Amino acid sequence: MRNYRVLLQRWRRLVRKLPFLQLRYFGEASGYPLMLIESRHHREGARSLYVSAGIHGDEPAPVEGLIQWAEETLPSLKGWNFQIFPCLNPWGLERNLRFDEEGRDLNRCYNSRKVPQIVEQIRAMKGRKFDLALMLHEDYDARGFYLYEIASERPYWGDELRDELSEKMAFDPRRVIEGRSANKGVIRRSITPKLLTELKGHPEAFRLHFHHAKRTYTFETPSEDFLVNRVGIHKVFIRLAMGRLASVAH
Ligand SMILES: [Zn+2]
Repeated sequence: MRNYRVLLQRWRRLVRKLPFLQLRYFGEASGYPLMLIESRHHREGARSLYVSAGIHGDEPAPVEGLIQWAEETLPSLKGWNFQIFPCLNPWGLERNLRFDEEGRDLNRCYNSRKVPQIVEQIRAMKGRKFDLALMLHEDYDARGFYLYEIASERPYWGDELRDELSEKMAFDPRRVIEGRSANKGVIRRSITPKLLTELKGHPEAFRLHFHHAKRTYTFETPSEDFLVNRVGIHKVFIRLAMGRLASVAH
């Protein structure tokens, strides 16, 4: 779980069996190669999905949930377009540390040109459009799962996703989460130019929202719950969000 080399091997083994996908290295951080799994050919008009995990190294369940989901589900998704970033902070993952080796919160660096791996990731994503972008996280203060939703298309999906997920895990009941008002585990942010200038660093979700994705979800699980539950609910979340996309006219 915390061994990046083993994680790489699992992804490599999976992609080898799926000729419609390729694994490539888009950069390097603290001596670790950064991997990206994507469709070998971009299919015009196909549904497209972005998923990332492990940008915070002390959040292991999303990394494990994503590879397990991929092992179980990716073989049946030949017709989709993908970009999957399985672990954006391997140095942190192996040390159980949120930040990277330079002490940076990478999820506040998406407007910085000074962080090589972010520059390289943005280059790897150039020109890509996604129907759906999922960013998988964990939170030590959470009392249940919660999600941030940024969508340029209506209807919103957050409340229904929350209801479906609630069958497996309780949502975080707090009215204020990370300083934002939350409604039964759903935080909907309107991102204004003012907010952008106030924030010192931009998270990955903002980059996706402004440049790539119609719908952006940041999903958070409570770090204090059992690992097996957290891994499980990340898989369920990816499945439910994709199921919703698969069911809408395209
Ligand atoms: Zn996080």
